[in-house]
Amino acid sequence: MRIESYSLAKDGEKKLSANFRVREFACKDGSNTIFVCDELVQLLQNIRDHFNRPVTITSAYRTVTHNKKVGGSPKSQHLYGTAADIQVKDTPPEFVAQYVETLLPNTGGIGLYPKKSGRAKGWVHVDVRKAKARWKM
Ligand SMILES: [Zn+2]
Repeated sequence: MRIESYSLAKDGEKKLSANFRVREFACKDGSNTIFVCDELVQLLQNIRDHFNRPVTITSAYRTVTHNKKVGGSPKSQHLYGTAADIQVKDTPPEFVAQYVETLLPNTGGIGLYPKKSGRAKGWVHVDVRKAKARWKM
């Protein structure tokens, strides 16, 4: 596991893999520094290749301030650049979570946020922590 630091201004357009650029991992508060774990990028690319559909990252790296603002857990993996919340085009989050389960059978975090009233779309949280964590909200 290697966590790299990037600058949104300088590296934003840089490709981290075939389908993902640095800017997609930026904190939504617009801050310049971005932390991204290489294993997270590999995981997302694997998901992209498996479904062969666009993957939208709705939240990846978060600063402490932004994480508090969005109600993230104080030890959220998003703070370390090891987590992403994703939506796969035209694919229910349940299918995405099931597939990620096969990639991370004994490690990592998978949080399922099914589509429900008050949520335009569901999403899946994935992270590459060493321990295994699963939840559904
Ligand atoms: Zn998340």
